[in-house]
Amino acid sequence: MDQSKIDALRAREIPTQTHLIDGKHLPASDGATMDVVSPIDGTLLTQVVKGTAQDMTAAIAAARMAFEDQRWAGQPPQARKKVLLRWAELIEDNALELAVLGVRDNGTEIAMALKAEPGSAAGTIRYYAEALDKVYGEIAPTSGDVLGLVHKEPVGVVGAIIPWNFPLMIGAWKIGPALAMGNSVVVKPPETASLSLIRMAELGLEAGLPAGVLNVVTGEGAVVGQAMGLSMDVDALVFTGSGGTGRRLLEYAAQSNLKRVYLELGGKSPNMVFADAPDLDEAAKVAAHGIFRNSGQVCVAGSRLLVEDTIHDDFVRAVVKAAEAMRVGDPLETTTQIGAINSEPQLRQNLSFVETAKNEGGQVETGGTQILTETGGYYMAPTVVTGVRPDATLAQKEVFGPVLGVTPFSSDDEAVRIANSTVYGLAGGVWTSNLSRAHRMIRQVRTGVMHVNTYGGADGTVPLGGVGQSGNGHDKSMHALDKYVDLKTAWIKL
Ligand code: NAD
Repeated sequence: MDQSKIDALRAREIPTQTHLIDGKHLPASDGATMDVVSPIDGTLLTQVVKGTAQDMTAAIAAARMAFEDQRWAGQPPQARKKVLLRWAELIEDNALELAVLGVRDNGTEIAMALKAEPGSAAGTIRYYAEALDKVYGEIAPTSGDVLGLVHKEPVGVVGAIIPWNFPLMIGAWKIGPALAMGNSVVVKPPETASLSLIRMAELGLEAGLPAGVLNVVTGEGAVVGQAMGLSMDVDALVFTGSGGTGRRLLEYAAQSNLKRVYLELGGKSPNMVFADAPDLDEAAKVAAHGIFRNSGQVCVAGSRLLVEDTIHDDFVRAVVKAAEAMRVGDPLETTTQIGAINSEPQLRQNLSFVETAKNEGGQVETGGTQILTETGGYYMAPTVVTGVRPDATLAQKEVFGPVLGVTPFSSDDEAVRIANSTVYGLAGGVWTSNLSRAHRMIRQVRTGVMHVNTYGGADGTVPLGGVGQSGNGHDKSMHALDKYVDLKTAWIKL
């Protein structure tokens, strides 16, 4: 990474950002905008359009029209593939610009942003471009006098609601397979991190996506997001974000057209370290990285560290050492390992979780405070709290910040019991040299993802999704395509 290039991109003025509806840049129907504040230094970055329900309706109508006239779904698969491959290429060509733009409004450390945002988004779009002409229908094993065909058809208009932690990566997880299957899409970016997603969509149009096939409407979740949820003309809603919003989306679907709703929600993921872990120093470093990267604003963050009691004190010391060694600071400095918290309210919420943890008997071993206040930005020291009871607030509620709660256990059964004692079930980890124990944990811990002797890794070939109140449906891999197709049976008398 070239620091001077990053600095030049950081100095660029960002004009007021508009909706992207039917291939056109449009303001809000009432002309309203909202401020975008940089979490790096608390300064005003630019404005984005504060959309109205009417704007959302216009975008959905454009997407519907594009779907009905088949300007995208009706193209030969090879033509759609070419456009998506070109889009992936453009994202890669503009990767640094996209990453810096994203960091300026969301605060993720640039090294991670570059890899996880444009890097991952381009890979995802390419993956689904390559998949789209390999999805076949079926011939059912019927009796000989009939032919039963199962067609896979696009669902129509897909609404995608995106969170602020990784808008490009998570956006691409939804937009990529939706477009690959021939749907039209309306995207609602997060209020505090919409800039890079708008730019990525512009590149999609430049790559050849027809007008109306991909639309972006910015604004408040409670206004434009709600309008999308309540629309009678959206066929499927795909969402990543908080459980509270997920619940609302289910209600909106029930109040409107019973649209399909796929939710990717939060987690309180247990990372379980046994005394027989192959390398405890490595486990401590990875455990710290697994919670503190992107300031803990990661859905699969290993936010509960469960440690076998015989190694508890030594292991905590090693995690604290690893946490204190991580450089927190300006996310656009290439040497920074942990960037900014996305917004001031989020920072305040993180700090209040630490206060609650202390009141409930936890001991703060390191961190627990806001730091770098002189920058004007929102930074928090990586925080390790020990003595967290399994039923404590810090063990039960998602912080979505750089706060690790540590709980000891003394047997496999107790580890599983604690691991399964939240409403969530997104990810988990187990560190052990015992192969049988590792496999038992994979089976017994109720999550969508389990890591063994590592934490947090994945690529586009494997699904990501949760169980319980971590959501339903999966992003990534070929399984994600199922969300974007309807099955249609043709029963033909021969
Ligand atoms: P959020 O639910 O507040 O917002 C997510 C999106 O929903 C935003 O675009 C927001 O504008 C929109 N929204 C808010 N209210 C709405 C409403 N009433 N109707 C429609 N849309 C509305 O969540 P957040 O704070 O942006 O993201 C953090 C949460 O997301 C955390 O809980 C985190 O765990 C979760 N998350 C989950 C995953 C996953 O894959 N499971 C990934 C990343 C983040």
